[in-house]
Amino acid sequence: MVKRIGIIGLGNVGEAVAHSLKKHASLISRRTGLKLEIKSLCDKEKRKRRVAERLCVPFTTQALSLIKDPDIHIIVELIGGIQPARKFIMEALRRKKNVVTANKALLATHGREIFSLAKKKKKAVGFEASVCGAIPLIKSISQGLVSCEVRKIYGILNGTTNYILYKMGKEKIDFAAAVAQAQKKGLAERKPYLDIEGTDTLHKLTILSYLCFGVWPSMQKVHTEGISKISLLDILYAEELNYRVKLLAIAKKDRNAIDLRVHPTLIPIGHPLSETSLSYNAVFLHAYPAGQLLFYGEGAGGLPTSSSVISDIVSISLNEKGIMRREEKLNLKNVKDVKARYYIRFMALDRPGVLASISKILASLKISIASVTQKERKKGKFVPIVMLTHEAREESMRKALAKIDHLPVIQSPSQTIRIEDL
Ligand code: NAP
Repeated sequence: MVKRIGIIGLGNVGEAVAHSLKKHASLISRRTGLKLEIKSLCDKEKRKRRVAERLCVPFTTQALSLIKDPDIHIIVELIGGIQPARKFIMEALRRKKNVVTANKALLATHGREIFSLAKKKKKAVGFEASVCGAIPLIKSISQGLVSCEVRKIYGILNGTTNYILYKMGKEKIDFAAAVAQAQKKGLAERKPYLDIEGTDTLHKLTILSYLCFGVWPSMQKVHTEGISKISLLDILYAEELNYRVKLLAIAKKDRNAIDLRVHPTLIPIGHPLSETSLSYNAVFLHAYPAGQLLFYGEGAGGLPTSSSVISDIVSISLNEKGIMRREEKLNLKNVKDVKARYYIRFMALDRPGVLASISKILASLKISIASVTQKERKKGKFVPIVMLTHEAREESMRKALAKIDHLPVIQSPSQTIRIEDL
């Protein structure tokens, strides 16, 4: 069976997909009986014509001409961003073509509209590469766990932030120095806000929410905190307490509600997620009745990610249905109602009675303390005090901190990091 493919966007991923498709064409054919043919390559940069020439494939700078080509069965969108990617995908579906994309930002924002058009046109949208690069997570969940109910997901879904936190702890460097290292290695962009502020992780969590629970959440309502406020001090204190700081995407299903969050989290040292180093991604999930499962691997990079894109091209070519989830009505839990344990670091005056006044406020809001450590003694000076709490409601914690941070003995806003004991 011959399937003709058009690829739009010859950047990191697109170029790797084009090369791998050519290189592994005979292997794919032996394994699947499919003859995959790149009909045309497209990039808005004329200099990318060289990529096409090396592969002996026609080239265009006009994406719409490729989408309109009646000989092309599958359009592969690898330009990223919202527009014109949305326009290209919608037009391809309207013309009854299957689509493969790695575009998490677009799916998180317009996924509902894209999948509903695909359903109407009876076409497939492949999106394996949109979450965790090379890890075959989407197919594992939708096919491997087809008889299971996913109940909890804890994911390190962004390699850049994992690299930064890992380097801070490993080399005892501050946040800015770790960001600079990530930029030097090509892991962080010059303006790395999408990664650092948790937006990229939020996009991927949104896609997982659709896949696992059938819910496209409104992203503004998902509590999202990045890692820019995490200091080396907190990473080192966490290690002393046998925890590591990771930026986690968390999803929990509880009867008719889902709890979705993105934030730095303390997780126990020794848990496989805490050992996820450098820019690797890992997803730990609880599914009933399968139990606990761990997925680990390269979350980015053109070549690793190309394997997921090609896997979508092959499975759509073999069975044009694609992965689609029926939407469900579940409420999104407000973060204020979430219960968690907390790590809190206060910068407080080292003088008698300070601990008592902090504890009194916490107790008045029914927050009980599990442990307290005063890190230094400097009479009359500000010193760090680190507390771990038992489980408390987020709303109570916020009220308590608002009061504590107003005490004259407190120097600066307190640092809190939620704990997941996994
Ligand atoms: P990239 O390196 O920026 O490549 C995108 C390419 O598309 C660039 O050559 C760009 O040209 C071109 N382009 C932009 N607008 C176009 C248009 N209207 N028509 C034709 N070509 C156009 O991006 P990437 O890293 O390959 O990422 C592609 C997608 O994969 C994104 O959705 C990304 O989120 C996703 N993804 C990437 C990775 C990864 O490791 N890179 C991993 C997983 C998923 P200009 O350079 O001139 O703009």
